[in-house]
Amino acid sequence: MSVITTPTVEQLRDQVRAAVITQADPGHDEARAVHNGMFDRYPAVVLRAEQVADVIAGVNFARDTGLELAVRGAGHSAPGFGTCDAGMVIDLSPMRSVYVDPVTATARVDGGATWGDLNYAAHAFGLATTGGIVSTTGVGGLTLGGGIGYLARPYGLSIDNLRSAQVVTADGRVLTASQAENADLFWALRGGGGNFGVVTSFEFQLHPVGDVYAGIFLYELASARDLLRFFADFIPTAPEPDGAFPAFQIAPPLPFIPADRVGDTLCAAIVHWAGPVSEGRRAMAPFREIGPVVAEMAGPMP
Ligand SMILES: Cc1cc2nc3c(=O)[nH]c(=O)nc-3n(C[C@H](O)[C@H](O)[C@H](O)COP(=O)(O)OP(=O)(O)OC[C@H]3O[C@@H](n4cnc5c(N)ncnc54)[C@H](O)[C@@H]3O)c2cc1C
Repeated sequence: MSVITTPTVEQLRDQVRAAVITQADPGHDEARAVHNGMFDRYPAVVLRAEQVADVIAGVNFARDTGLELAVRGAGHSAPGFGTCDAGMVIDLSPMRSVYVDPVTATARVDGGATWGDLNYAAHAFGLATTGGIVSTTGVGGLTLGGGIGYLARPYGLSIDNLRSAQVVTADGRVLTASQAENADLFWALRGGGGNFGVVTSFEFQLHPVGDVYAGIFLYELASARDLLRFFADFIPTAPEPDGAFPAFQIAPPLPFIPADRVGDTLCAAIVHWAGPVSEGRRAMAPFREIGPVVAEMAGPMP
């Protein structure tokens, strides 16, 4: 007769280099927090993975104990998928390395890196790829959901630039997914979210993008109709380096916002020109015509 034993948290701790934080440990409150404060959940175990071996051990532990498993990159999930109650969280945020190969114009990015991490590393080589508009969003969750951003018009979605992924599957194996290898898994990763395994690294195609001309124009809310009509006409035929989009924005307390307008609900054009920076100012001209500009901040930036 074979005896089935359930692994204990102590056995997991002996096995991994990662911090393993339970509800009894100090730091559990910090370890369980996600970006969206509406999700105030209490996982039984948080494993702060530092390398692939930790992820394999964590997946095996969750499977063998029957614990629900949530995977967290930068924790930006709107529906709170990066945490759970009474289950296990594999927190990839310690795994944030980015390796850029300027010869092939590719980057190998750890599963817990943010877009800020990738942009910083790639910009040193005058390279970039389509990623999120906010630097603290995770490469993981954003890419697995498709990934739209400023560079989508010239270079496609984040998943269009994904060349391969290293994945720990539910049975604890480590697979490479690409067009050539495990192509069905690669297909599923490109938009299927975090449901097909834990991606420990992503390989991206990069493009020659150095400094861009970008920023924001804020208009009175009364201009919203004109703003949206403008975009409907403008964006289908706009030059590809133009990655602008319309938005609604509560004016934040920033130096370029007139003090008496802070807190007002305004509409906005978030502008982004990825062509030659010297053409940036001219590319912005149509946005000044939409309506009275309440505040403006646009210029060259990395
Ligand atoms: C401020 C903000 C700005 C945003 N801007 C954009 C934008 O410009 N473009 C856009 O397309 N989306 C944007 N989003 C949406 C964002 O892409 C999704 O919320 C995404 O899921 C966040 O990824 P994350 O890694 O930060 O989140 P997490 O909460 O860590 O993860 C989200 C989901 O992805 C899974 N996951 C994350 N990493 C991995 C991994 N390595 N392996 C397996 N599964 C993983 C998790 O299990 C979870 O289900 C934005 C969201 C926020 C909050």
